[in-house]
Amino acid sequence: MIAGTVLQVVVAAPVMGPFDYLCPTTEGPTPVPGQRVRVPLGKSSRIGILVAVKQSSTVPDERLRHALEILDIEPLLDEKLMALLVWASAYYQHPPGEVFAAALPASLRQGKPVTDTRRCWLITEAGRAIDITTLRNKAPVQARILEQAAGTPGGLAKEQLRAISPAWNRSVTVLVDRGCLVTETATEGDLSLPPASRDLETAPELTVDQDRAVAVLCSDQDFSVSLLEGVTGSGKTEVYFRCIRQQIDAGRQSLILVPEIGLTPQLVDRFRSRFSEQIAVMHSGLSESDRLMAWRTACDGSAAVIIGTRSAVFSPLPHAGLIIVDEEHDSSLKQQEGFRYSARDLAVWRGRQLGIPVILGSATPSFESLANANTERYRCLSLPVRPGAAKPPAVSLINLRKHEPRDGLTVPLITVMHRHLDSDGQVLVYLNRRGFAPTLMCTACGVLQECKRCDARMVFHSRRSRLICHHCGSDRPVPLTCGDCDGELRPVGQGTERLEQALGDLFPDHELVRIDRDTTRKRGEIERRLKKVRDRKASLLLGTQMLAKGHDFPNVTLVAIIDADQGLFGTDFRSAERLAQSIIQVSGRAGRADRPGEVYIQTCFPEHPLLSMLVESGYSGFAQAALQERRLSGWPPFSCLALLRAESAKRPAAYAFLDRARDLAKPLSGKGLCMLGPAPAPMERRSGRYRGQLLVQADDRGAMQRFLVAWRAELAKLPEGRRARWSLDVDPVELF
Ligand code: ADP
Ligand code: ZN
Repeated sequence: MIAGTVLQVVVAAPVMGPFDYLCPTTEGPTPVPGQRVRVPLGKSSRIGILVAVKQSSTVPDERLRHALEILDIEPLLDEKLMALLVWASAYYQHPPGEVFAAALPASLRQGKPVTDTRRCWLITEAGRAIDITTLRNKAPVQARILEQAAGTPGGLAKEQLRAISPAWNRSVTVLVDRGCLVTETATEGDLSLPPASRDLETAPELTVDQDRAVAVLCSDQDFSVSLLEGVTGSGKTEVYFRCIRQQIDAGRQSLILVPEIGLTPQLVDRFRSRFSEQIAVMHSGLSESDRLMAWRTACDGSAAVIIGTRSAVFSPLPHAGLIIVDEEHDSSLKQQEGFRYSARDLAVWRGRQLGIPVILGSATPSFESLANANTERYRCLSLPVRPGAAKPPAVSLINLRKHEPRDGLTVPLITVMHRHLDSDGQVLVYLNRRGFAPTLMCTACGVLQECKRCDARMVFHSRRSRLICHHCGSDRPVPLTCGDCDGELRPVGQGTERLEQALGDLFPDHELVRIDRDTTRKRGEIERRLKKVRDRKASLLLGTQMLAKGHDFPNVTLVAIIDADQGLFGTDFRSAERLAQSIIQVSGRAGRADRPGEVYIQTCFPEHPLLSMLVESGYSGFAQAALQERRLSGWPPFSCLALLRAESAKRPAAYAFLDRARDLAKPLSGKGLCMLGPAPAPMERRSGRYRGQLLVQADDRGAMQRFLVAWRAELAKLPEGRRARWSLDVDPVELF
């Protein structure tokens, strides 16, 4: 190795980097990109990732420091994954060190060892007793594995197994289940091979639509993106299962990304009851050792299926075969802070890079994906009906201007609720607002209870007897009277807590389960409550957004949407899309089994075109019409956006930065680019900080990218940037 070797290292720090270091020693093998390196940074040391090895540096010799230590024998990140990260860092204008950090479990980021206890498989006495000749006819791969294992006293490593057959994983599982092989494996919290003697569910016969979708999807060899638009309950998961099975048979891994709230034990159980192969589950709630273990099984190829929330898009996939993004419209697939990436968009990029198919599934696809399907960049596959007898629910509107609600409930709604409960159905009541009431109002002077730190009202929580701000979390005791005039205070509007009370009074004979962030803080509480509903111990189910996704309530026959009007006149151009998605998603919880479902929506605006379109033509009719409106107004997906946010405890500091940013943008932005703002964020003051923003809109991504590269470099130099906290959000999904 050359003494002058220069290591280019990215370090998780809010600086663009990468940085050059000299190799720690002149002995040993040349370091390889993807390995972790301990490097000095300022007065301390950090763990970085080696991204390139060079022979020279532009950093002057006297300032070039030695790296301290190479931590890994083999690279942790392969070349392709590194290319993805490099691309993402450039595209999202985010420091590469932080982007690379997103791809590793925390313990590896902190420099802990991968504990490379290599797993191997040893033959048992039972395995030696097997008659190989007979087995060879029935299961040739198993026979070859046993033969080779019998001749290898140290056991077979996965590379040796893979040499026998790319589909080794399945055969090994069978042999382990039969007690012919045992695995010698890692120490901590072993998730290795699944327990033996598990009865797998048999796959149902596919419906005609499923069959067609599976046939098309399974014929894909290369990169392609398919939008699987299937109404809720149409059996998208079954389609995924078949595609995953095909990949497993070919010895390849499948990555499934799901929204945060969708990754329930229920979903994982569904996978486990269909696949005996190893499944790695990756989400933020895991313990560090489980997380590392999941990462390792993905990395060494032993996990055939990797299910995870958005950061799993960076999971190692040495034998990648397929990427699925379920509920691809869900906003939790976009990270909203720090490294603001879209896991869906990166999944598509990764699929192209790896040359493998990508499936985007949803009952309510994002307008971005629909536009891509309209222009045939994505292939569109649809599952328009539910399998078996399950019918889509019938949707009706209740006019709140005609029917005065009491405690949020109108007489017609109460009547249908009785009807469903009396015929042994379950009722789901949806209200996306927790607490007792959105605020308290003085009956004398009309003053509302405001948060002192935010431009928001304090929500009245009756059980805890506090006023709580849902934006900054601050709380205070409930005042007895109005602070201004001593008048009497009264709760205005509905929250789930108040509705729970009202429903309890109206339906005293029916047990109610409420599911929102307040009732499910305790670990395992949400599962406990859901089980009560599934076991039919409770017939009323009340909740927020938490209920809208991923759950299957086979006996819910009525869904009641208490207030559809929150989203009708939103300020964000995506308000209508969001509202329609949540209405359809919640409605989809009804009538999933053999019982027909009904949906009732209370609204002050039953004639609103969005609602009537949704009721008459369903999501796709609505979406195509709304997409047309987007085209006319030039919003995404017909343009692209980047949002520069700035905040400071002093209002002028935030705007001084944004004003300068706008001045800097002028000479850099050519045709096809426009700036909107600076303007206050929709909620300008939050947690005592003033927030402003500047929106950049461009006709195409190329122009946007060229502009952002130049602009960000200038922004980083602005002295005003030190007096305000700022961030750049490329393809923002929330405009505040
Ligand atoms: P989605 O993911 O589209 O909302 P699911 O995959 O959860 O739908 O399927 C809804 C229900 O239909 C599940 O209970 C599933 O077991 C069942 N199902 C799916 N496909 C079939 C089929 N071909 N035949 C019978 N039942 C099916
Ligand atoms: Zn607040």
